[in-house]
Amino acid sequence: MKRLGSDCLFLDISHKPESFIKEHFPTIYERCLSYGIDITRQPIPVVPAAHYTCGGIMTDKHGCTDIEGLYAVGETAFTGLHGANRLASNSLLECIVYASSAARHISEHLNTDSVIPDVPGWDESQVTDSDEDVIIAHNWDELRRFMWDYVGIVRTDKRLQRAKHRVDLLQQEITDYYSNYKISRDLLELRNLAVVADLIIRCAMLRKESRGLHYTLDYPDTHAEPRDSILTPINYDW
Ligand SMILES: Cc1cc2nc3c(=O)[nH]c(=O)nc-3n(C[C@H](O)[C@H](O)[C@H](O)COP(=O)(O)OP(=O)(O)OC[C@H]3O[C@@H](n4cnc5c(N)ncnc54)[C@H](O)[C@@H]3O)c2cc1C
Repeated sequence: MKRLGSDCLFLDISHKPESFIKEHFPTIYERCLSYGIDITRQPIPVVPAAHYTCGGIMTDKHGCTDIEGLYAVGETAFTGLHGANRLASNSLLECIVYASSAARHISEHLNTDSVIPDVPGWDESQVTDSDEDVIIAHNWDELRRFMWDYVGIVRTDKRLQRAKHRVDLLQQEITDYYSNYKISRDLLELRNLAVVADLIIRCAMLRKESRGLHYTLDYPDTHAEPRDSILTPINYDW
């Protein structure tokens, strides 16, 4: 798809008898038919789908991060269980195991004496209502698209540089928007998505080998020794 710039590829099972297809793939047959595609006669448009993230916030075996009191569990966490790829069906198991271990740790270490500091209310006096929410929707689409095209599955240095350039521009625009207009849930989520996208691109740029699901055409071989691509507050320029 990347080489051809196409939106999908096609899977053709129409050489099999109609009865075989209906019997073996009843749900897919019905679903495709509802979109006007009869898979007994026509090819099925297919695209890869994002299944999970591989990486995330580093935690120990209790889900503790390097910020005291902040725990990360599940899709957002990098527990070290999975190496450079994650085998099917381990994700949900990981959620359960780490949720249990984090809950135990919290109950054993909960400090009920700590005082929550007073936080001043959000000051909206300097900003106005945005009359251009289309910018948020547009940037959301753009972010998704370039992460998929340039950072997903098969990477190259050039694709990653392109993505980095775009995410930098996007972050500038988001900051401008953030400082001039009232915040909304969509804006906050877009800002968070851009931060995560930036982290993924920076990590990917540090990796000079192909390992597990991290594949790049510029470094197709696997190093004899595994090397991580972990960003810490020391090497990440906030
Ligand atoms: C297509 C697909 C198939 C998969 N199949 C499998 C499988 O067969 N076996 C397996 O083990 N794993 C599978 N996984 C992976 C597994 O589903 C995930 O790893 C797991 O669901 C992660 O759980 P989570 O609770 O960490 O995150 P999520 O399930 O993503 O839950 C996060 C929740 O937070 C909510 N949320 C987000 N932002 C906010 C906010 N600002 N305020 C409040 N709530 C918010 C979201 O709405 C969501 O409900 C699959 C994933 C995908 C995408």
